[in-house]
Order: sequence, then structure tokens, then C-alpha cells
Amino acid sequence: MNTQSHDKISKSDFIAFLDAPRHLWAIKNNRLTPIEINTFLEHLFDQGYNVEKYAEQYIQEVLIPEYNMAPDNVLLQPTAKDHEFEARADVLILNPQTKKWDMYEIKSTTEIKKQHKYDVTFQSLVFGKQYELGDVYILHLNGEYTRNGELNLKNLFARTKVTGIVSELANEVQILRYNALDVISEHDYNQVPSCIRPKQCPCIDICHPDLPDYSIYDINNITASDKKVRQLENMGVFSIDEVPISFTLSDKQKAQVLVAQNRNVHIDIDMIRKDLNGLHYPMYFIDYESFNPAIPMYDGYKPYDQMPFQWSLHVRRSKDSELEHYEFIETNITDPIVGFLEALTKVLGSEGSIIVWNKAFEGTQNKRMGEIHPKYNDFCEEMNSRLYDLMDIFRDGIYARREFKGSYSIKKVLPVLAPDLSYKGMNIAEGATAMISWNEMVYGTLPDVKRQQIKADLLAYCQLDTLAMVKIFEVLEKLL
Ligand code: SF4
Repeated sequence: MNTQSHDKISKSDFIAFLDAPRHLWAIKNNRLTPIEINTFLEHLFDQGYNVEKYAEQYIQEVLIPEYNMAPDNVLLQPTAKDHEFEARADVLILNPQTKKWDMYEIKSTTEIKKQHKYDVTFQSLVFGKQYELGDVYILHLNGEYTRNGELNLKNLFARTKVTGIVSELANEVQILRYNALDVISEHDYNQVPSCIRPKQCPCIDICHPDLPDYSIYDINNITASDKKVRQLENMGVFSIDEVPISFTLSDKQKAQVLVAQNRNVHIDIDMIRKDLNGLHYPMYFIDYESFNPAIPMYDGYKPYDQMPFQWSLHVRRSKDSELEHYEFIETNITDPIVGFLEALTKVLGSEGSIIVWNKAFEGTQNKRMGEIHPKYNDFCEEMNSRLYDLMDIFRDGIYARREFKGSYSIKKVLPVLAPDLSYKGMNIAEGATAMISWNEMVYGTLPDVKRQQIKADLLAYCQLDTLAMVKIFEVLEKLL
């Protein structure tokens, strides 16, 4: 065993410890499987770099001039360490009034998260030994900022003073960081607590080498309750098939366990009939793809606002009519929602139901698009009044099968209900890749042939999403 008990605890070690003490143990013992940088993570990293770039500009152009200090009294990315801990801050500035060092930490979010508070408290404990610290700030994106013309750096960022929070958390973090030190000197990982969320586990071999294919962690929302998961683990129950019938679960969780254990299909025909009978022809099956830049690219947008850039629409005008298909994708460097909505107004009639999968997404985008471009506000509101969410039937367990494994994602439901349609083999087969590919196609420097390929892949992907809805709808319809 390769336990490195002399290692210092860095800030990222401490964050890993907060996530799950066993993650820290795995890092220090080289047992963490390097995470595959999937497209979604890649996108998050890109967003983070982009925010950092603008934050550095803000520090130079707004923050430092405000302090009016000589360069010697501004430390960019300083490090500090003692015998046990080490940290790197984003900026330290000597405050001319207090003669103390104010510390700034950059975060790419629009709000301060719980983890950020622990993170800056850790920093200030380490830096506090070497510097006389004054106030501590988190520099983050201002969620209220709306772009209007050139980027306004001063308004794009917000500075939140967290000095009080840091003082409140200091004792707790002090104890926690010594607990983290204990973890790295532990030889047996079984003595180190694990998490209750192993579904995207970075070192499954040390925690759950034999995790069943359908496990207790797949039970809907079960990880919201530490107590329930720990009870099951302590009983040695890891497979959903072994959950005792008498075990306390919510109605929805119980229904999922029963369907799994009885290997049957639960279909509430009356509910499905009620839902489908409430729909009107023509039926519009629609799906959007969108990109959410951290730094707003066009007027009217706030940080992280989605920019819907593509839609696919299948139309069923009556029960027996031929299925029609329409689509749109913005390929030029321009605010995509103008073309997006303009094209949609031409094919979406004023009557009939608009069927989506996860109306929270399309509904929110409609609302924001109407706000950003008030000319389309009535159209967007009218669309929202006609939305029907096909996903609800699966999310609410009205139709449940063991094979869904408690998921109501269209990617899980489609292969079970309409196995002849598949996302397999597609160049673009999920939303994060669609988003990144579109950004590359429009704003990158790809050769034209590659851009054309991406366009074709995006169109095929979005079209399959709406066709999948139609096929799932037909399966439900045949039950009635
Ligand atoms: S189960 Fe996986 S994710 Fe959880 S602590 Fe263990 S290694 Fe980490």
C-alpha cells in the first residue's frame, strides 16, 4: 500500500475530502481512476477558463485601480503553506486603509455555493498564518447583469464579502482539515467513509467492486436521504432486488422497487387515457438544442442564459395523416433565437398541442426568448400555454418497467419501447455534444467540410429526438 502520510493537504484535496473522505484517500493512494473528460466536462472547463480570462481583466482594470496600490502590494496567484496545508489564492491586495491583505477568490458561478464557503475558509486559514488578512471576497459572475452593447466588466462581475462567513466556519474547517489529514495517514480505506452516490464513481473498484447492475442507488431520489441509504448498506442490501418490502420508502420509490422485484410492467391505463385524450390535433412534437455561454454573447442575455439554436418538429395533423417534419438550425454568427423563432412562427399553427419531453426546459426557454426579444413574447407565451410534457407519464411512474431502471430520460425509454429506433452509431448522440459541436461549427475555425458534417449530424440528432417522442406516443396510444 502506498500511503503518503507526509503529504500536505491542498485546497483541491480538501474539496475531495468534503465530497467523500474516501476520494481523498483514493487520490493520495493513486487509486482514483482518471476521469474521462467527457464533452460536458470539457464544456464546463471551457466556461471556467473563459470566466477566469474576463475576471483577470476585471482585476487589472477595475479592482486594482480601486485600491490604488503599487504593483508590489498586489499579489496574483500567491501561494502559502505550512507544515501540513498549502493553498493558492487568486489575488491578495494590501488595503491602504486597513493595512491588511484582502483576499479574492474567483468563481465562475453566478451565486456562492456551500462548497465555495468551505473552500475560501480553508484558503484563509492557510494564508492567515503568513499574511495579516483583512476581508475575504468571492468574485463571481453577476446573475443580474444583462448585456447591452460592449461587455461592461464592472457590472459583469459581483464581489461578495464573505469575511463573516469565513469567521463562522473557521473552527469547523479547522477540525475538518485535521480530519482530512487523518484520512491520508489511514492504511485501510474501509476505515474511511465513502459517499452514497456511486453512480458516477471515479474508483468503483475500491468501494463497490460488485455493485449490481440495478442497485439501491438507482432508486429514485434515494440519495437525498443519507439515512435510508446507510440503513440499506448496513443491512448488506445493495441490489434493488433485495430491498425488504417492509423497508420505509416513498410511494414512488416503493412502486419502482415493486416493479423491479416483480419484473412486471406497471401501466395506469386510465391516467394515460386521461392525459392523451386531453391533447388536440394538430399535434406538434418539438425539441430544442441550446448553448449557454457563461459570458453573454449578445444583447439581452444574462450569464449562462441558454441560446436555443436549433429545433426539430414532427407534426401529426390527424390520427391517420402522414407525419410531417420541419427543422431549423442557425449556422451564422448572430443571435440564434431571432432566426429560431422566425422560422418557428411559419410552421407552428395557432391550434393544437405542443408535445415536448421535459417541459421545464422548453418552457423556460420560451419564456426567456420572449423576454429577450419582446416582439415574440406573445408567440412564446402562447406556445407555453399549449405545452404537454410526454415525460410526465414516465417520471410519475404511470408507465413503469424494470428496464427503465427508474430513469425517465428519453434515451432510456426509447430503446425499451421502440427498439427499432436508436441513438447508437450517431456522431452526435446527446445534448452536451450537440451544444459543443454547434459552438465549434459557428464560432470555431473548422474547414467547411467539417462544418457541413456537424450541421448534418446535429439535424439528424434533433430529428431523432422528436421522432422518438412520436414513436413513444404511438406505443402509448396503442394501449388505449
Ligand atoms: S462510492 Fe465511488 S464515488 Fe462514492 S466514495 Fe466510493 S469511490 Fe467515491
